Amino acid sequence: MRVLVLGAGFGGLELSTRLSVALGADADVVLIDKAEGFVFGFSKLDVMFGHATAPSVRHLYRDLAAPGVRFVPATIRAIDPAARRVETDAGPFEGDILVVALGADLHPSMTPGLVEAGHEFYTVAGAFAAAEVLDRFPGGRVIIGVTSTPFKCPPAPSETALLLHDFLVARGLRETSEIALVMPLGVPIPPSPAASQALLAAFAERGIGWHPGRLVRELDPARRVAVFADGGELSFDLFLGVPVHRAPQVVAESGMCVDGWIPVDPLTLETAYPHVYAVGDVTSVGTPKAGVFAEGQAAIVAERIIARHRGGGASSTYGGQGICYIEFGDHRIGRVEVTFRRGETPAGRFDDPSLLHTADKAAFGADRIRRWFGREWTDGNVAARHVPAAD
Ligand SMILES: Cc1cc2nc3c(=O)[nH]c(=O)nc-3n(C[C@H](O)[C@H](O)[C@H](O)COP(=O)(O)OP(=O)(O)OC[C@H]3O[C@@H](n4cnc5c(N)ncnc54)[C@H](O)[C@@H]3O)c2cc1C
Repeated sequence: MRVLVLGAGFGGLELSTRLSVALGADADVVLIDKAEGFVFGFSKLDVMFGHATAPSVRHLYRDLAAPGVRFVPATIRAIDPAARRVETDAGPFEGDILVVALGADLHPSMTPGLVEAGHEFYTVAGAFAAAEVLDRFPGGRVIIGVTSTPFKCPPAPSETALLLHDFLVARGLRETSEIALVMPLGVPIPPSPAASQALLAAFAERGIGWHPGRLVRELDPARRVAVFADGGELSFDLFLGVPVHRAPQVVAESGMCVDGWIPVDPLTLETAYPHVYAVGDVTSVGTPKAGVFAEGQAAIVAERIIARHRGGGASSTYGGQGICYIEFGDHRIGRVEVTFRRGETPAGRFDDPSLLHTADKAAFGADRIRRWFGREWTDGNVAARHVPAAD
C-alpha cells in the first residue's frame, strides 16, 4: 500500500516517521519536497537575531534515512486528488493514500511597497536576510507588522518585538529606537487571556508600542510610512513584515480548496476525496497555523493508515491540542497549552516565562530532529546554549 506524502515540513516529517517506526520497510512512503531541508519556524527568529547560524538550523533532507520512506527532491507541479496522482519535476507518482502537507506559501509582493521598502521575516530566506539588515541597523523607528490573516504562529510577531528589544539593548541602540507591533488581533494570544496579559505587561515594561486590531495594507516607500487597512499611518525606519499567506498554487489549482484552504473532517483529517488526507497549514481545520498542530494532525492520520495497513479500523480522532513556547526575551520562555475544538471556545493554560521552559523548548526541537532525522542536534540548539547557569 503506497502512501504519497506531499511536503516534508512539520506534518509530512511526523507522518512519514510514524509510518516508518510502525511499519518499517513495509511502510512504502514516497515523501516529496522541493526544499533542500527543513527549518523550524522558531529557528528563523534565532538566525534573525544572531543567536544561530543559518547552516546550523537547516536539517538536510538528504540525511533522512527512515526505513520504508523514499524521499524525492522535486517540485510538485499538479495534483489530481481523485486519481491520487501528482506530476513532479521527477516524474509522476501515484498512491493508494495521498496526504497533502504542503503548508502555506508567502507572498510579500501582494502588499504594495513591502518588497521595496520593508523586509519580511516569515520565509527562511527572508528571516536569514533580515539578520544582515538588523546587523547594519543604526537604530530608529521599527514596525513589526502583519499584512493579512490567517498567518502562521500568531505569537511570533509578539516574540519578535520582545527579542528585538533585547537585541537593541545589547547593541546600545534601544534608547534611540522605537518598537511598534501592529497586529490584527485584539489581544496577542486570544485563546489564552493569561498569556495575552503577560505579553501586554512585557510590552508596557519595555516601552513597545501595541497597535491591536490593525492590518498593514501597504507601505509608502517615498514617505517611509505604513498605511493600515483602516487608513491610519505610522512612520518607520525599518519595517519587519508578516506577508500574505495563501495555499500553494498547485493546491489551489487542484480544486481541493474552499475559501482558499483545504477543508477536512476535523476529527479524521479526511478531505472530500476518498483516501486523501490533508494536514497542517494548508487546511482550514480550525486550529492556528502552527507546527505543533500539523504534527498532532499527522499523528492521527498515521494511526489511521497503520490501522488500515493491519486490516483494522482506527478509533482515535484529532483533539485539537497543542503546546506553544513563547519567547519573552531575557532567555525566558512562557508556555501555553491550548485546545481547539469546533463549536467550543478554545481553552488555554499559561505557564509564566522561566528558564525551565527555555530548556523544554530546546528539548522539543532536539527530540523532533532525533526522531525525524536520526541525529543529535546540538549546535543549533540555541535556547539550551544560552540558558544562564542559575535563574
Ligand atoms: C517566525 C515563525 C516562527 C514560528 N514558530 C513556531 C513555533 O514556535 N511553534 C510552532 O508550532 N510553529 C511555529 N511556526 C509555524 C510553523 O513553522 C508552521 O506552522 C509549520 O511548519 C506548518 O507545518 P506544515 O507541515 O503544515 O507545513 P510546512 O512545515 O510549511 O511544510 C510544507 C512543505 O511543503 C513544501 N512544498 C510547498 N509547495 C511545494 C511544491 N509545490 N512542491 C514540493 N514541495 C512543496 C515546502 O517546501 C515545505 O517543506 C512559526 C512560523 C514562523 C514563520
